[in-house]
Formats: sequence, C-alpha cells, structure tokens
Amino acid sequence: MNAKSTASTKALFQSASAGEQNRSSYRFFAILGICFALAAVGLAMLNRQSGTEAAQVARVFKPSDTPFNGQRAYGFLKEICAIGPRIAATEGMRKQQELLKAHFEKLGGRVTMQEFQARHPESGERVNLANMIVEWHPERKNRILLCAHYDTRPFPDEEPNPRLRKAPFIGANDGASGAAFLAEMAYHMPKLDSRFGVDFVLFDGEELVYDGARDPYFLGSEHFAREYVAKPPEHRYRWGVLVDMIADKELQLYREVNSMSWPDTRPLVLDIWETARQLGVREFIHRNGHEVRDDHLPLRNIGRIPTCDIIDFDYPRPYGPNYWHTTKDIPENCSAESLTKVGAVILAWLQKVRD
Ligand code: ZN
Repeated sequence: MNAKSTASTKALFQSASAGEQNRSSYRFFAILGICFALAAVGLAMLNRQSGTEAAQVARVFKPSDTPFNGQRAYGFLKEICAIGPRIAATEGMRKQQELLKAHFEKLGGRVTMQEFQARHPESGERVNLANMIVEWHPERKNRILLCAHYDTRPFPDEEPNPRLRKAPFIGANDGASGAAFLAEMAYHMPKLDSRFGVDFVLFDGEELVYDGARDPYFLGSEHFAREYVAKPPEHRYRWGVLVDMIADKELQLYREVNSMSWPDTRPLVLDIWETARQLGVREFIHRNGHEVRDDHLPLRNIGRIPTCDIIDFDYPRPYGPNYWHTTKDIPENCSAESLTKVGAVILAWLQKVRD
C-alpha cells in the first residue's frame, strides 16, 4: 500500500510538469501532490505503528530476557547423569542426594529428607526411600510447591532393541532434567519477592517399576501427599507445579489433560501458559496434549493441592522415534535452550503470582 501511494504521487508531479506551464494548474497539482505525499507519509507511519504492535504480539523470547541460566542448568543435568543410573534405594541415588543437598544448602535452602519405606517390587524387601524437601522463605505460611522426581527407571524397557532392555538407563530428560531445573532455580529463590514461600520437593520412587502392570508408581509423591493430610503442617500449599521431561531438545509443551480437567487447577495451567505467551516462549502450546499419569495425581487427589504437570511427553517429537525409557535418553538429546525457556516461564510466573 505504501509503495503504491508513492508511485501515484510521483505520476501526478510528472503530469503537472508535462502541462502547459499554467501556474494555477501547476499550483493545483502541486498542492494535490503534497496532499498525496502527506497521505503517503501518514500511511507509512500507520504501517510502522501496526508493525510495532505485530512485533509485540509475535514477541520472540531471547535467553537474555531471563536471569534463569539454562546453560548452568544443563551443566547440572550432565553432572547428575555422570553419576550413572539413580534408581531408588541404590548407591547412585545416594550420590545424587549428597550432591543436591550440598548444593541447595550452599545457596541458603533448608533441606529436609522425608524418609519412608517401601517394598522393593523385585526382592520384596523393605527399602528406604527419601523425598528431598528444600524450603525457601520458611516464614511465609502460604507456599508454592515446585517439584520433580529424581529417581530413574531401573531399565530402558521401551528400548526398540530387545538386547538393550537391561542396559543402564541414564534418564537425562526423565529424571535429571527436573533435578537440574531445581538446582538452577535455587539461585533465584533467596531474592524472590513474593507473598509466597517456595518448597522444592524431589520425589523418590516415582518409577521404581520393573513391571508396568504390577508395580506401583509415585511412591514418593503419594507418601508426601498422605503426610500433608495426616499431619497438616502450619503452612498451606496454594499451588503445585510439577516438571518432568522438560529438557527435550525439540521442546513442545502442550497443556496436560488431567491438569486442565480439574477446576481448581485449570486456572494455574492457563496462567502459566499465558505467562509463556507474554514472554514469547512459543514452546508452550495453547492446546491440550497428552493425558499423563504423573506425581501431580496424588498431590492433587490425595493432598488437595492444585498441581499441574509441565511435561513434554513426545520425546523427541510426535510420530517420530521414541527416546522415552530408552538408551537414547541422554544429555545429547537434551538442551540448555529448552531448560532456559521453561525456567524463564516458571520464574516469571513465581514473580507475578499473587493469589
Ligand atoms: Zn519415566
């Protein structure tokens, strides 16, 4: 439109100078020309203005927009994976607990191990498991629960190659990503200006599962929710946000179906996805995706804590190969960029949530 107006203005000036030098007709055409020129300038300005609006609508997120350091989070992810498998009640889990506890305490978090026992699904023996709770601003009685599981599945049982189904399972995305996310989030908690305090909880025994049809999932979150109801603490959790499989290199976060179906939790999902839209993080997609059974079920259904699950269940992508519960769930298939984007959204949401 702009280009067309300029062309017709130019044509008018040309037709004026090609006239018979009649001063008044020249003046007439000159004034008309100036009017057209002004109209063209006006249109150009209007265009630029709507261009700015368009840029706002289509804002694209840059890592420099957030203090959340996804590179550092990815460094933690690699460090956690370097331990090897972190199956509940094993030496790998113990090493991870040591590493994380020291890290959170160094940054000023108050760390408690919530110990409990479970029956090992293979041996039948009692084993000791532990959720790790990290409190920030413990004096604030209204709190937000930020959580993830930190144990890894015993074997990569979805491995396409049957000979690898008993190989070590590293769980870079399914396990380490949540713990690494919280390890980075810890840097931003001491200065969090909010009426809410924050508790990180790392759940043990989310998938101490050798046989999917036989063994129970969510041991840690179920224990946590039952304790919260049976021995109510002085504080109350207003919201719970669970993260799982958030480091996929090809991040796509659809709204999880259970979280959306609960009337008390749905506003939380919409608020987080709206925060992502405002930041220009397009990986939070405003459509429902999978219905996922995860630690948010016991938290919400037993603990009555409205809790949403932020999970990219298509790893790496829908209708592609599958890395979930396979030997391909390794740091190389995860990325700092994805962690940055999830971190930016959750941190911004934490900074703005008021009720
Ligand atoms: Zn899993």
